[in-house]
Amino acid sequence: MALITTVHDALVQLLGAPKVSSATEVLAIHATDKWHASASPEAVVFAETTEDIVRVLQFANERGIPVTTRGAGVGYVGGCVPGQGGIVLSVSRMNRILELNPEDGVAVVQPGVITGDLQDAARGVGWYYPPDPASLRECSLGGNIATNAGGPRCLKYGVTRPYVLGLEVVLADGSVLRCGSRCHKNKTGFDLVGLFVGSEGMLGVVSEATLRLIPHPETRAMLTATFSEFPQAAHAVQRILNSGHLPSALEITDEFTLRAAREYLGPDALPEGNAHLIVEIDGRQAAVDNERRELAPLLEKLGALTVEHHTADEACESIWQLRRDFSYSLRHTGLTKLNEDIVVPRSKLVELVEFAHGLQEQTGIAVACFGHAGDGNIHTNLMVEDYQNPSVRAHADKALDQLFTWILGNGGVITGEHGIGLAKKRWFADAVGKESVATHAAIKAALDPKGILNPGKFI
Ligand SMILES: Cc1cc2nc3c(=O)[nH]c(=O)nc-3n(C[C@H](O)[C@H](O)[C@H](O)COP(=O)(O)OP(=O)(O)OC[C@H]3O[C@@H](n4cnc5c(N)ncnc54)[C@H](O)[C@@H]3O)c2cc1C
Repeated sequence: MALITTVHDALVQLLGAPKVSSATEVLAIHATDKWHASASPEAVVFAETTEDIVRVLQFANERGIPVTTRGAGVGYVGGCVPGQGGIVLSVSRMNRILELNPEDGVAVVQPGVITGDLQDAARGVGWYYPPDPASLRECSLGGNIATNAGGPRCLKYGVTRPYVLGLEVVLADGSVLRCGSRCHKNKTGFDLVGLFVGSEGMLGVVSEATLRLIPHPETRAMLTATFSEFPQAAHAVQRILNSGHLPSALEITDEFTLRAAREYLGPDALPEGNAHLIVEIDGRQAAVDNERRELAPLLEKLGALTVEHHTADEACESIWQLRRDFSYSLRHTGLTKLNEDIVVPRSKLVELVEFAHGLQEQTGIAVACFGHAGDGNIHTNLMVEDYQNPSVRAHADKALDQLFTWILGNGGVITGEHGIGLAKKRWFADAVGKESVATHAAIKAALDPKGILNPGKFI
């Protein structure tokens, strides 16, 4: 208790009372994210400027106090959970878009800006910030940068990394590093921007970012198709790409998820079929019309039971809502959803789903698969009953061991979007190998020798 008072009081002295809290409910909110871990910090700081971050880090570094940076706190792997207590450094109040500049094709933002807000602002001037995590109405750009977030449209446009041109980062000792620039090409020195993107708050605190914008596509359209079996839908994904089409999104859904969706949304919410495919195309109006007319007969030829066209913007939006509802449908089952954002080489999609079904039979844990088929990034959800029960949790962990062993044995990766955090910590070394672990550790030691930034995670 004495320590809490000391850290809290010292921070109040440093920053002023409105920027610091140790109230029980504030500590509780900042103890978790959307995963299952919880650990209370001793104090929460609400930084409003880069200078606030500098002061907190200088203070913490001198005393060896852990600092865990938090964006919006909607991560899926416990990344912003302060496993070793100390200070949670929230950047949620640093939420201003500082500049929107179509002439340079850049936006300069503070880290707490909500992703969807930047997309809306860019759209307002005819420009586009493509990275589109499903959480975009809630998550922050700083969190996206720290996890290198992705989403459905990353098939065509790429994940967060290619949109980060420059960063201001406060290092563990409080020094301020500016790396990259506002230029769209830059090969000056090492790729330090790339080093910080995806570093999960362990190498520095992103206090400002210069992001790349591109012209907004004139229009979009969608085709949705159902198939009697998952392998037909997976085959269609390959054929679409091999026919020279690059849709902005290719989303596949398996039978378990469709059953849950029909239960949650009503039996008529989806046409018949045990696999579902969403194909989104965007670009100039004439090109989108032509491409849609070419793709529909291709899907029919590949055995689609139904093919539906969606051309108006609202119609496309309602299909994305349906896609989001797949997630809510799984939650509605009442089972705990362990959402594993694994990735396989695209040629292994069918094998992955066959393995997942085998795992379900062997363990008795239902497995639901859906996601970004074009990237081979299939969210494989273990649906667990009574997850709080320790023996059930151990059983689920064993099933995850089997899943990740299979993934790594088949050239896949254990996370494509969410990061390692706490959730995937025990598989990190197997996933990257000992030389890579040592390289990670050397970089961490160089930038954060006292190990104050987000300690207890995967390094
Ligand atoms: C319903 C739902 C859907 C989702 N869909 C997707 C999806 O499609 N794609 C995807 O990629 N993710 C998805 N996620 C996961 C999550 O939204 C992303 O990981 C997102 O990037 C987290 O942002 P955040 O602001 O909430 O970060 P937080 O959870 O606050 O933090 C995440 C990590 O980033 C670090 N961090 C945060 N801000 C900073 C900063 N300024 N400087 C340094 N480090 C920082 C934290 O320390 C932590 O390690 C989803 C989550 C939910 C709940």
